[in-house]
Amino acid sequence: MHVLEVKGVTRLFAGLTHPAVDSVSFRVEPGEIFGLLGPSGCGKTTTLRVIAGFESPDSGTVLIREREVISLPPERRNVGFVFQDYALFPHLSVIRNVMFAMKGTPSRLREKRAAELLRMVGLTTVDHRMPHELSGGQQQRVAIARALGADPQLLLMDEPFSNLDVALRDATRREVRALLKEQGLNAILVTHDQEEALSFCDRLAVMNAGRIEQVGTPEEVYHYPRTAFVAQFLGRANLFEGEADGGVAHTTLGRLPIRPEAHGQVLLSLRPEHLVLAEGSGGEHEGEVVAREFRGHDLTYRVRYHDRSLIAHTEYTHSFYPGQRVRLTTREPAVVLRDPNGRTASDRGGAHG
Ligand code: ADP
Ligand code: MG
Repeated sequence: MHVLEVKGVTRLFAGLTHPAVDSVSFRVEPGEIFGLLGPSGCGKTTTLRVIAGFESPDSGTVLIREREVISLPPERRNVGFVFQDYALFPHLSVIRNVMFAMKGTPSRLREKRAAELLRMVGLTTVDHRMPHELSGGQQQRVAIARALGADPQLLLMDEPFSNLDVALRDATRREVRALLKEQGLNAILVTHDQEEALSFCDRLAVMNAGRIEQVGTPEEVYHYPRTAFVAQFLGRANLFEGEADGGVAHTTLGRLPIRPEAHGQVLLSLRPEHLVLAEGSGGEHEGEVVAREFRGHDLTYRVRYHDRSLIAHTEYTHSFYPGQRVRLTTREPAVVLRDPNGRTASDRGGAHG
């Protein structure tokens, strides 16, 4: 049974050149933390608001545990919502904030349950404080405890960590993820932060301009991006053209293995850590280091290669300097990219096939 099924949801707003949410479909499996990742304005919040019931879709539908909820108001959908700005009631103590949402719990049990929820999110001594007396990280935990108080089937979180400073953000993220997993809760995390999505979510959808370009595990979307947008949004990527013939392509980097197999003109992506630099001049495969950036755990280089600029990572044990000649090889197949409609360059008539 799916916890959530979003089917072909489209939402239009006057004044936009494309739908804010455009035929979006995905499913959330039991126990899963699912991510919606994409740049600001790509439709993440609108998608979440349609699921919660604050927004109606122009077409498409939403099922929670196989029940269509599109005609139900938010309070009858059994979802919890955590916003970026905590949105606690400023005039209520922490524990009263949590108790507020516990309509399903008999009133004599509410205080005890609220205290339990606060322990669960790691807050021990703040029950009777006012929200403004807490740090941002603590307030966000109260907001999560409050959302859990209604015993939701699904927790929706919209950029919940983005107002926290960096040190707190990492710790809060780890703890919230551990809590969701411990309790076996289903959640959807909306974020524009690719590292956050990759580390927090079991699977994620990458959105661009209202559409989902890829759904997969963090490893799948990072290692096998489907589109140029996904390749570039999830870290850095070298994009280049090639002429594919099955499992190999002829490219400016020479004859390279590719995946999946393709024929004709293709656009390829290669992660910087999949380019290998070696000392010495390499004839046809020779390039020149033009910039070097030390990043502690690794080094990033810009390499000029046959009139193009490539980006490469090496481990900290290898060091090259600007001006140095290097030989370039690859250690993973290049990934064949498609356009958002699933077509390769030659499918679009880019070249002979
Ligand atoms: P995200 O959360 O990914 O940043 P949103 O879902 O908030 O994106 O917005 C998607 C697009 O829809 C944006 O262009 C935004 O300006 C527009 N939008 C969102 N809500 C409204 C609204 N109520 N009225 C008009 N346009 C809106
Ligand atoms: Mg948003």
